[in-house]
Amino acid sequence: MPRVAIIGGSGFYSLFENPEQREVETPFGNVILEVGKVRDVEVAFIARHGRRHEIPPSKVNYKANLYALKQIGVERVVATNAVGAINPSIEPGTFVVPHDFIDFTKNRDSTFYDGKTEIMVDGRILRGVVHVSMTPDPYCPEIRSAILQSLSEAGVKFVDRGVYVVTEGNRFETPAEIKAFSFLGGDIVGMTGVPEAVLARELAMCYATLCLVTNYAAGVQGSRKLTHDEVAEIYERNLKNLRDVVARTVELIPLTRSCSCGKALEGAIASK
Ligand SMILES: [Zn+2]
Repeated sequence: MPRVAIIGGSGFYSLFENPEQREVETPFGNVILEVGKVRDVEVAFIARHGRRHEIPPSKVNYKANLYALKQIGVERVVATNAVGAINPSIEPGTFVVPHDFIDFTKNRDSTFYDGKTEIMVDGRILRGVVHVSMTPDPYCPEIRSAILQSLSEAGVKFVDRGVYVVTEGNRFETPAEIKAFSFLGGDIVGMTGVPEAVLARELAMCYATLCLVTNYAAGVQGSRKLTHDEVAEIYERNLKNLRDVVARTVELIPLTRSCSCGKALEGAIASK
């Protein structure tokens, strides 16, 4: 069974030549995922937006996706996101490995622990109120360092930290919102980083993400706006690098976890 999973964002819809497709039943809906090998490591793959980009960010079934991965034995998740740059020093075409996030989503089901549903985590049935900690590292430090090593080896342009602001979508942000996010310390903005990172932690899974900057966020470029074709061209040009970096990351992830993600539920359960 795969212990590593990749969740592909915009433009990243398939991973294997001849994948084995599996349908996994969860209390939150069924998930079709692919299982195959990446450089001799067995990996599960989910295209977050579906294979034809038919699922918008606010309608992704994040809970089913993460729960399905947990059910088949995945411990470590490497995600990818296409984002815009709030920080003007981060040019389109740059990779960013965020170290923190700010959640501006509004209408998403962002917890497994609603007080009613029974959640199975590592052989325990949990039902109640759980408050997982997001400090000191909202993202798994081991996965982050594997991504960073892979980026270094690939020789691509990257930034080794950044604050990822996550918005509800589906519309893009206004110039005033981006200015506000900038004051708050945001570096990049996108619509899919939350609740994925939160739900992974609620299931004691490791999670980190590799973001590709495809454009400047609203107002960052002044009056100059990238056209859709320019954004698509930047993405297309970098897609092979993205896939290569993810594949090498999978190879670099240690077999045994030495991070604290697996203990995320210790001391987090408020009611039993
Ligand atoms: Zn971890």
